[in-house]
Amino acid sequence: MQYPILGIDIGATTVKYALLQDTGVLTSKGTQRIRAASNAEFISQLQEIVSLDAFQDARTVGIGSPGPLDLEKGTIISSANLPAIKDCAIVGELQNSFPKKAFRLDNDANAATLGARFFGKAKDKTDFALFTLGTGVGGGCFWQNQLVRGYRGNAFEVGHIPVAAFSEKNERQGRLCGCGNYGCAETYASATGIQNSYKNLTGASLTAKEIGQRARSGDSHAIEAFNLAGHVLGLVAATITQTLNLTDFILTGGVAASEDLLRPAFERAFLDHTLPVFHALLSFVFTEGDEDAGIFGAAALFLEKIQ
Ligand SMILES: [Zn+2]
Repeated sequence: MQYPILGIDIGATTVKYALLQDTGVLTSKGTQRIRAASNAEFISQLQEIVSLDAFQDARTVGIGSPGPLDLEKGTIISSANLPAIKDCAIVGELQNSFPKKAFRLDNDANAATLGARFFGKAKDKTDFALFTLGTGVGGGCFWQNQLVRGYRGNAFEVGHIPVAAFSEKNERQGRLCGCGNYGCAETYASATGIQNSYKNLTGASLTAKEIGQRARSGDSHAIEAFNLAGHVLGLVAATITQTLNLTDFILTGGVAASEDLLRPAFERAFLDHTLPVFHALLSFVFTEGDEDAGIFGAAALFLEKIQ
């Protein structure tokens, strides 16, 4: 691989970028507020970033973005946080503007998974799953030393695993998710899910962080909201383990900082819903992750061997 690699991390409101050097250090870091009143405006912002003087030597540019994406076409299909963005052909447009550079785009959870594999808590692991716990729940899976992408690159949407959708009477079950279905994991296990659990129990609208503080002071409803989130995440992890025989899980993002509140219910649900043959060598790592994780992940898109 030719260093430096330019990593661009598209977030909800900001875009962060830096050069990854062969020493594993990030240089020339920057952050901008996203300007995306239209596809054209957002593309020109990305063009400006790539053309900064500091990035002239970077021949490779990795971009991590919230999905859904079309990886074949190199487009952002739509974005919950950037409503004006629709079928935005960022790879094609950037490639036209910078023909000597190579671009790769992938969703932010896949990028985070590669970042963890090459720079983070999963360094040198060949098989693990990663959950990103924020306003939604995302995920990525490294399996047999390769990122699992699926048919169009949208594999491992763990937040939409239907943990609570089943009823023998065929009635609709579970909470309504942003994706339009009912009973998805993220309606319980995301920051928004935790807020809704607490609101259902008490009527009060607090942030997940505030609910965490209340839980630590003994508020039983706050504890229950986190128990529910931990339980649901444990069910998701159990589903994945029973499918792939994975032993290593990394839970990252703002909500994962509440390991003390999530882990007991997570472990209990995992153990209760997996066969004993899966209970050896388990590793569950909770980490808030640092602010550069997305940039490392985007740059790591060029470190993965695509077979
Ligand atoms: Zn959903």
